[in-house]
This record gives sequence, structure tokens and C-alpha cells, in this order.
Amino acid sequence: MPKAYDTIIIGAGIAGCCAAFALQKKGQKVLLVDRSSVPASGGSGAAGAFVSPKIGKGSALQTLTNEAYEYAKDFYLKHFPKHFHQTGVIRIPKDAEDAEKFKLYEPFNGSKYRWVSKEELEAIGIQNADESFLFEEAGVCDAPAMCRAIWEQVPFKQFDVEKLKFDGTQWKLLTAHCSLLTQNIVLATGYQNTLFDMRYMGIRGTWGSRGDYYSKLKLDVSMHKSISVSANIEGIIKLGATHNKAKNPCMACDGKPLKSLEEQGSLTVDTGDFVLKETFCGMRSGSKDYFPLVGSVIDVPFMFENYPAITRGAKPQIKHIENLYVLNGLGGRGFVFAPLMAKWLAESITQAKETDKRVNPDRLFLKWARKLKMSNE
Ligand SMILES: Cc1cc2nc3c(=O)[nH]c(=O)nc-3n(C[C@H](O)[C@H](O)[C@H](O)COP(=O)(O)OP(=O)(O)OC[C@H]3O[C@@H](n4cnc5c(N)ncnc54)[C@H](O)[C@@H]3O)c2cc1C
Repeated sequence: MPKAYDTIIIGAGIAGCCAAFALQKKGQKVLLVDRSSVPASGGSGAAGAFVSPKIGKGSALQTLTNEAYEYAKDFYLKHFPKHFHQTGVIRIPKDAEDAEKFKLYEPFNGSKYRWVSKEELEAIGIQNADESFLFEEAGVCDAPAMCRAIWEQVPFKQFDVEKLKFDGTQWKLLTAHCSLLTQNIVLATGYQNTLFDMRYMGIRGTWGSRGDYYSKLKLDVSMHKSISVSANIEGIIKLGATHNKAKNPCMACDGKPLKSLEEQGSLTVDTGDFVLKETFCGMRSGSKDYFPLVGSVIDVPFMFENYPAITRGAKPQIKHIENLYVLNGLGGRGFVFAPLMAKWLAESITQAKETDKRVNPDRLFLKWARKLKMSNE
């Protein structure tokens, strides 16, 4: 039987949408599937979706994030400009101590920026803020609209994938109603990972919420100070943050998931006329070391069976599950990372290009295997 698809991508969040788009651009016959009938039903729909650089003292994660940021803003402007608003993003120090750190961060601001004084901030309606960085080329995506726009470019089927079978040459996706054949699978399933043993990647969820408010406040720029406050775009201002580590998708919030966002938002801008339009809650998924997870998936049962000494520090050659890939662990910056990570994944699938070591999930396996032994003792 001929194969039906080159690659099926499971999960229609920003990661899966970008992966499907990138693979299709490489000439592949792709299919995007999600258990929901619409895209961005997971963490991606709840995102404030700021596309801005990371500040800090030049860590490896900052360097990678900012490489992804430069790529992402150009990608959105080129392909989906309607859903990326280049409002600029102001990074405001949390307090006086943080303000001191900003001076140390300055040499590592690789992306275009300028300082904004306290007076200038007050003039544009930002209160209680120390001197800040303004990244003028940064901006905000309309998260669900962006995912939908990408999703509309690729074939899609609603599918709750419960089982995958590899017959030696191709994968079969099985459901109660039908089965699909494909050469490759990409898992872009966010914090949910029940299909394979991927514990070594340490994928975990962090719970967050966003409120969209009707407002007439003149606010032309977006900002981040502990929480994100978007510019006023067509009469809507978004407040959002993710903070609570969680295993389950619903955190207890006494029915008021936006309470702390509203309290913090009111310290930075005048929220007097804010009227809640809509609440979004969701989980974002991060990896053990906060770097994205892009590449092949290790055959964990095979490794333990054939190389039991890995629990004692042996370093045998790693065996991957054939034609099975992951794109996950994008953390609090899914909209920043997804376009570049999807490009890298597409290059590794279609051109056998080696995955960048910083994001290859293999980096986590042997250490995890050793620790697993210790925790079992
Ligand atoms: C409140 C909040 C604010 C945020 N703010 C920002 C921000 O300002 N900037 C930024 O860049 N990022 C932000 N993020 C992070 C960003 O949202 C995430 O990094 C991103 O959404 C992760 O996308 P994803 O595609 O990996 O996962 P998801 O969006 O969670 O998508 C996973 C999809 O997989 C599907 N799925 C899972 N298992 C199966 C299965 N077995 N069969 C079929 N379908 C399946 C799910 O239905 C879901 O649609 C924020 C997140 C939150 C929650």
C-alpha cells in the first residue's frame, strides 16, 4: 500500500502549526492533526504571545532565544503580518534591585533597543517604573488568529491520537474510525505526552492565564514587568502570565484566575476603564533545562534492555525510534521559538541535517538514566 503522507504532525499549537508549515514548504505531503477541531486549543490559545528578546548576562539560553526572536519576527512579518503587531515591547525592571541588574544586562542586548527614562514612561502612561529597555522591533501576536492563519495553509484532520504503530517502513495512526499511514511522525503535543516514554526530556506544565479587556486607554506599546501588558490593539488590552508549576490542566483559583494579573496590571497602567472581554487559561510545556526539544526520540526500552550499564554511567551509542520526532519544550516563549525550531526540524527530516546540539533532546538522556537508577535505590 503506498504511504499516504510524508509526515503527520500531532498537535495544532504554535509548534505543530509551524512544523507543518515548514515541512510543507520543503515539499512534503503533510497532515496536521489535533484532538480539537480548531487550532490553539492548548497552551497556544492562552498565550499573550509576545515576541520579544530575552534579557540577561549572555547565557546560552539567552543567545538561542534571541537568535529565535530575530527569526520569528521576520517570519511573522513576511508570512502572517496581519496577526503580528510590531508595537515594541518595554522590559521594565521589577524593582530597584532589578534596575541595577539592567545595567549589567545592557552589553548583552544583541537586538535593537534603547533606554526609556522614567519621565518618558510616565508620559506614555506607564507608572511606577524605573528606567527600562525598549525593543522597538518586538511585538505581540494574536495567538489564536496566528495559529489559525498557519493552520489554514496545511491539510488538517481532527483526531485524538491514542495509538501509533511502526511496521518497519511506515507509521500507522489508529483510531476507532480510520487509520492513516505516514513515513514520519512529529509529536508537538505540548505538556501531554502519553504516546511514548519521553520522561528523559522532563516535559512539565506551567499553568497560566490571560485576560482580554475592552479599554479606551491610549497605550501604543506593549510591556513586561512580572506580567505582560499588551498595547491597546483595536480597543483590546491583554494581561497575561504563567507561573504555577502544575501536573493537571486546572489550577485552583477560587474562580478568579485573573485576580493577581489585574492587581499587578493596575500598578503599571491605568486599568480604571478595563472591562473583561474574555478569560484564557492554559498550560505551557517546558523541558528540564529550559531549552527547546527538537529532534529524534530515543528508544528508551531498547536502551535499558540492551545497555543496562547506562544506569552506572556507560555511554553507548544512542538508538532512536525510527522516523519519530519531537518539537516541544518551548516554555514561556513558544511564539518566539516555534518558527526557527520548526525550520531546524524540517531541515533535519528532509535534508538529514544534524540537529543543533543545544536543542537535541539526546542531551538529557544519559544523565536522566543515571539519576533514575539512584532514585530507584
Ligand atoms: C498564559 C500564557 C502566556 C504566555 N505568553 C507567552 C508569550 O508572551 N510569548 C510566547 O512566546 N509564549 C508565551 N506562552 C507560551 C506559549 O503559549 C507556549 O510555549 C506554546 O503555546 C506551546 O505551544 P505548543 O504547540 O508546544 O503546545 P500547545 O499549544 O499546548 O499544543 C499542543 C496541542 O497538542 C494537542 N494534542 C496533545 N496530545 C494529542 C493527541 N494525543 N492527539 C491529538 N492532539 C493532541 C493538544 O490538543 C494541543 O492543541 C504563554 C503561555 C501561557 C499559558
